[in-house]
Amino acid sequence: MASIVHSTGKFRCKSNPKAHSLRYNHRMEKAPSFTVDIMLGKLAKWLRLMGFDTFYSNKATDDFLMELTFEEKRILLTRDRPLVQRVGTAAYFVQNIFLPEQLKEVTSIFKLHRFHPQGRCSVCNGVLVSIPKSDIEGRVPPYVFQTQEQFFQCQSCEKLYWKGTHIRHIEKMISGTLRPVADETLTSQEKDNG
Ligand SMILES: [Zn+2]
Repeated sequence: MASIVHSTGKFRCKSNPKAHSLRYNHRMEKAPSFTVDIMLGKLAKWLRLMGFDTFYSNKATDDFLMELTFEEKRILLTRDRPLVQRVGTAAYFVQNIFLPEQLKEVTSIFKLHRFHPQGRCSVCNGVLVSIPKSDIEGRVPPYVFQTQEQFFQCQSCEKLYWKGTHIRHIEKMISGTLRPVADETLTSQEKDNG
Protein backbone atom coordinates (compact mmCIF):
# COMPACT_ATOMS: atom_id res chain seq x y z
CA MET A 1 0.00 0.00 0.00
CA ALA A 2 1.31 3.40 -0.93
CA SER A 3 2.28 5.55 1.99
CA ILE A 4 1.71 8.80 0.16
CA VAL A 5 -1.46 9.75 -1.61
CA HIS A 6 -0.90 12.51 -4.12
CA SER A 7 -4.38 13.34 -5.15
CA THR A 8 -7.21 15.70 -4.69
CA GLY A 9 -9.66 12.93 -3.82
CA LYS A 10 -10.59 11.25 -0.57
CA PHE A 11 -9.03 7.92 0.23
CA ARG A 12 -10.05 5.24 2.61
CA CYS A 13 -7.95 2.32 3.76
CA LYS A 14 -9.87 -0.75 2.57
CA SER A 15 -7.89 -3.16 4.70
CA ASN A 16 -8.86 -1.35 7.86
CA PRO A 17 -12.43 -0.11 8.13
CA LYS A 18 -11.47 2.16 11.02
CA ALA A 19 -9.03 4.13 8.92
CA HIS A 20 -10.16 7.63 8.19
CA SER A 21 -9.76 9.38 4.93
CA LEU A 22 -7.09 11.98 4.47
CA ARG A 23 -6.42 14.68 1.97
CA TYR A 24 -2.71 15.09 1.43
CA ASN A 25 -3.11 17.99 -0.89
CA HIS A 26 -3.34 21.71 -1.12
CA ARG A 27 -7.06 21.69 -0.35
CA MET A 28 -6.51 20.58 3.24
CA GLU A 29 -8.35 23.35 5.04
CA LYS A 30 -7.73 22.43 8.63
CA ALA A 31 -4.23 22.23 10.04
CA PRO A 32 -3.28 18.55 10.25
CA SER A 33 -2.55 16.94 13.59
CA PHE A 34 0.08 14.27 13.93
CA THR A 35 1.01 11.15 15.82
CA VAL A 36 4.77 10.69 15.80
CA ASP A 37 6.40 7.37 16.50
CA ILE A 38 9.09 6.76 19.07
CA MET A 39 11.98 7.09 16.59
CA LEU A 40 11.13 10.66 15.59
CA GLY A 41 11.21 12.59 18.84
CA LYS A 42 13.10 15.60 17.49
CA LEU A 43 10.72 15.94 14.59
CA ALA A 44 7.81 15.87 17.06
CA LYS A 45 9.39 18.61 19.13
CA TRP A 46 9.80 20.88 16.11
CA LEU A 47 6.30 20.27 14.81
CA ARG A 48 5.03 21.36 18.23
CA LEU A 49 7.19 24.48 18.16
CA MET A 50 5.66 25.26 14.79
CA GLY A 51 2.27 24.98 16.48
CA PHE A 52 0.99 21.66 15.14
CA ASP A 53 -0.90 19.32 17.43
CA THR A 54 1.61 16.50 17.71
CA PHE A 55 1.27 13.47 19.96
CA TYR A 56 4.59 11.94 20.98
CA SER A 57 5.55 9.69 23.85
CA ASN A 58 8.62 7.54 24.13
CA LYS A 59 6.46 4.98 25.93
CA ALA A 60 3.76 4.67 23.27
CA THR A 61 3.38 1.26 21.66
CA ASP A 62 2.63 0.79 17.96
CA ASP A 63 -0.89 -0.38 18.83
CA PHE A 64 -1.51 2.74 20.89
CA LEU A 65 -0.20 5.04 18.14
CA MET A 66 -2.41 3.29 15.61
CA GLU A 67 -5.54 3.57 17.76
CA LEU A 68 -4.91 7.23 18.53
CA THR A 69 -4.26 8.02 14.89
CA PHE A 70 -7.61 6.53 13.87
CA GLU A 71 -9.63 7.84 16.78
CA GLU A 72 -8.43 11.42 16.53
CA LYS A 73 -8.03 11.46 12.75
CA ARG A 74 -4.34 12.20 12.99
CA ILE A 75 -1.55 11.50 10.54
CA LEU A 76 1.00 9.00 11.78
CA LEU A 77 4.58 9.96 10.95
CA THR A 78 6.95 7.03 11.15
CA ARG A 79 10.04 5.39 9.67
CA ASP A 80 8.67 1.93 10.44
CA ARG A 81 7.49 0.35 7.20
CA PRO A 82 5.50 -2.51 8.81
CA LEU A 83 3.63 0.11 10.84
CA VAL A 84 2.84 2.08 7.68
CA GLN A 85 1.47 -1.13 6.18
CA ARG A 86 -0.78 -1.68 9.19
CA VAL A 87 -2.08 1.87 9.39
CA GLY A 88 -2.56 2.43 5.68
CA THR A 89 -3.33 5.84 4.24
CA ALA A 90 -3.42 7.53 7.64
CA ALA A 91 0.34 6.91 7.90
CA TYR A 92 3.19 8.66 6.18
CA PHE A 93 6.64 7.11 5.87
CA VAL A 94 9.26 9.78 6.59
CA GLN A 95 12.01 9.18 4.06
CA ASN A 96 14.77 11.35 5.45
CA ILE A 97 17.00 10.34 8.34
CA PHE A 98 18.16 13.70 9.65
CA LEU A 99 16.06 16.39 11.26
CA PRO A 100 16.37 19.39 8.93
CA GLU A 101 15.51 17.23 5.92
CA GLN A 102 12.70 15.51 7.81
CA LEU A 103 11.18 18.84 8.72
CA LYS A 104 11.55 20.08 5.17
CA GLU A 105 9.93 16.89 3.87
CA VAL A 106 6.95 16.96 6.23
CA THR A 107 6.29 20.69 5.81
CA SER A 108 6.41 20.23 2.05
CA ILE A 109 4.23 17.09 1.81
CA PHE A 110 1.56 18.47 4.14
CA LYS A 111 1.92 22.09 2.99
CA LEU A 112 2.31 23.22 6.57
CA HIS A 113 3.38 26.71 5.54
CA ARG A 114 -0.27 27.31 4.61
CA PHE A 115 -1.42 27.06 8.18
CA HIS A 116 -1.05 29.44 11.09
CA PRO A 117 -1.85 27.25 14.05
CA GLN A 118 -1.68 28.30 17.66
CA GLY A 119 1.66 27.62 19.28
CA ARG A 120 2.25 24.37 21.15
CA CYS A 121 4.55 23.44 23.99
CA SER A 122 7.55 21.48 22.75
CA VAL A 123 7.57 19.41 25.92
CA CYS A 124 3.94 18.36 26.39
CA ASN A 125 2.02 19.50 23.27
CA GLY A 126 -0.12 21.82 25.41
CA VAL A 127 -1.63 24.91 23.80
CA LEU A 128 0.30 28.16 24.36
CA VAL A 129 -1.66 31.20 25.44
CA SER A 130 -0.54 34.81 25.59
CA ILE A 131 0.36 36.01 29.08
CA PRO A 132 0.82 39.66 30.19
CA LYS A 133 4.37 40.83 30.72
CA SER A 134 3.40 41.97 34.22
CA ASP A 135 2.79 38.33 35.18
CA ILE A 136 6.24 37.27 34.02
CA GLU A 137 8.58 39.36 36.17
CA GLY A 138 10.89 37.19 38.23
CA ARG A 139 9.93 34.09 36.28
CA VAL A 140 12.32 34.63 33.36
CA PRO A 141 15.94 35.80 33.26
CA PRO A 142 16.25 39.63 33.63
CA TYR A 143 17.71 40.04 30.16
CA VAL A 144 14.74 38.27 28.61
CA PHE A 145 12.31 40.36 30.64
CA GLN A 146 14.00 43.56 29.49
CA THR A 147 14.25 42.67 25.84
CA GLN A 148 11.04 40.76 25.12
CA GLU A 149 7.47 42.03 25.00
CA GLN A 150 5.38 39.01 24.09
CA PHE A 151 5.19 35.99 26.36
CA PHE A 152 3.28 32.74 26.18
CA GLN A 153 2.51 30.05 28.69
CA CYS A 154 1.69 26.39 28.20
CA GLN A 155 -1.83 25.71 29.47
CA SER A 156 -0.83 22.24 30.56
CA CYS A 157 2.63 22.40 32.13
CA GLU A 158 2.94 26.21 32.57
CA LYS A 159 6.29 26.38 30.81
CA LEU A 160 7.01 29.90 29.53
CA TYR A 161 7.91 30.89 25.99
CA TRP A 162 8.75 34.12 24.28
CA LYS A 163 9.05 35.04 20.65
CA GLY A 164 12.73 35.69 20.50
CA THR A 165 14.28 34.24 17.41
CA HIS A 166 12.76 30.80 17.26
CA ILE A 167 10.56 31.58 14.24
CA ARG A 168 13.69 32.53 12.32
CA HIS A 169 15.35 29.33 13.49
CA ILE A 170 12.42 27.28 12.24
CA GLU A 171 12.65 28.94 8.85
CA LYS A 172 16.37 28.25 8.70
CA MET A 173 15.77 24.67 9.77
CA ILE A 174 13.23 24.13 7.01
CA SER A 175 15.50 25.69 4.41
CA GLY A 176 18.24 23.32 5.53
CA THR A 177 20.65 25.99 6.63
CA LEU A 178 20.50 25.20 10.33
CA ARG A 179 22.27 22.30 11.93
CA PRO A 180 20.01 19.92 13.86
CA VAL A 181 20.83 21.15 17.32
CA ALA A 182 17.27 21.78 18.39
CA ASP A 183 17.98 22.56 22.02
CA GLU A 184 20.12 25.55 21.09
CA THR A 185 17.29 27.13 19.20
CA LEU A 186 14.54 26.80 21.76
CA THR A 187 13.30 30.00 23.23
CA SER A 188 12.02 29.14 26.62
CA GLN A 189 12.84 29.18 30.30
CA GLU A 190 14.40 25.73 29.95
CA LYS A 191 17.19 27.10 27.78
CA ASP A 192 18.01 30.16 29.81
CA ASN A 193 17.79 28.46 33.14
CA GLY A 194 20.09 25.73 31.88
ZN1 LIG B 1 3.71 22.15 28.28
